[in-house]
Amino acid sequence: MSLPNKHYGELKDSYLFYNISQKIKAYSAKNPDKKLYRMGIGDVSLPLCDAVIKALHKGVDDQANKESFHGYMPECGAPFLRTTIAEYYRKRGVDLADDEVFVSSGASDELGDIIDMFDRGSAALVIEPAYPAYVDANTMAGRKIVHLASGKENGFLPAPDEDTQADLIYICSPNNPTGAVFTREGLKAWVDFANKHKSVILFDAAYEAFIEEENLPKSIFEIEGARTCAIEICSLSKTAGFTGTRLGYTVIPKELERDGMNFNSMWVRNRTTKTNGVSYIIQCGGAAVFTDEGQRQIKENIKIYKDNAKVIMQALDELGIWYCGGKNAPYVWLKCPKGMGSWEFFDYLLENVQVIGTPGEGFGKCGEGYFRFSSFGSPEDTKEAAERLKKLLK
Ligand code: PLP
Repeated sequence: MSLPNKHYGELKDSYLFYNISQKIKAYSAKNPDKKLYRMGIGDVSLPLCDAVIKALHKGVDDQANKESFHGYMPECGAPFLRTTIAEYYRKRGVDLADDEVFVSSGASDELGDIIDMFDRGSAALVIEPAYPAYVDANTMAGRKIVHLASGKENGFLPAPDEDTQADLIYICSPNNPTGAVFTREGLKAWVDFANKHKSVILFDAAYEAFIEEENLPKSIFEIEGARTCAIEICSLSKTAGFTGTRLGYTVIPKELERDGMNFNSMWVRNRTTKTNGVSYIIQCGGAAVFTDEGQRQIKENIKIYKDNAKVIMQALDELGIWYCGGKNAPYVWLKCPKGMGSWEFFDYLLENVQVIGTPGEGFGKCGEGYFRFSSFGSPEDTKEAAERLKKLLK
């Protein structure tokens, strides 16, 4: 008998961000006077908006009085927040019952936990390049992983292939790292595939708030047939700057069943066993995001990031470099110029113009030769980085 979970031994070293930090450290040690332009970060840089801060303060004050004090919170989320989130979907034309919404501590936590509901013998399909947690969480669980490579030829938005066999299907739209967004037709093909093959789609909507084109779907539940085949995982991290505050939500429709088992009921059972709810104070802050004032304020912040993305896109347009993303996402995904590899381009930019991005290879083999810029930096640094890129690569 073996005590440790041997599947941890099958994890590939998560060398991407470690490698980047080592290279930056070495460069800065040699060039202490050089300012670096960090266009690789996946973390937000703007603070929480005023409406959220006020609500967090009020939540703290509530905890100081016997009458308004909250102890353990309901495991699946505070009713006031579940109602607020269901209403947010309703405004976008998606009808949800309050108890189809589960409040979480963030999408990462949820992406790791939710696969507990699926048989370990099931196979998970990951469209690559991908957010690395999909592969790693399933590897830890000992699940078989089907890697589906995407590329420039399909705009990094592949369609299902009838020969593909998968029980769980990961779809991230807008995508990290490519910034690509599925159209309604593109998503419908996956929904039809999942219903036909009795698979379940795990739809990661962490970047939905960055979609500006009206006709693009922000939720998989805008697609007919999704209620019988999908779970949506979302987060306030990028929507409202909650990366260090921690709040997300998951939608599991009551119609989602496989082999006579209901996933909404299973998740209630899971949550009531494995959590004691999310902090009352944080849920107060989260609810403020969905007020009119909160929505107006978070949109101002998102606009700053989107303007940064525009600056990057303009530079790439001028240079004639192929890219996707940026328009409806905080990430711009580009083909490395001059036939360079991802890491080669990383070193080239660091050495010559002190601009830092993320090598595409870190998101799966088919990301080799590509590179990700993020728009979460400051406008000043983004503009300077874009100028430096133009000078270097023209
Ligand atoms: N999903 C994707 C695609 C992400 O890029 C991230 C964070 O970068 C997450 C999930 C995790 O979000 P959270 O901060 O809510 O854990």
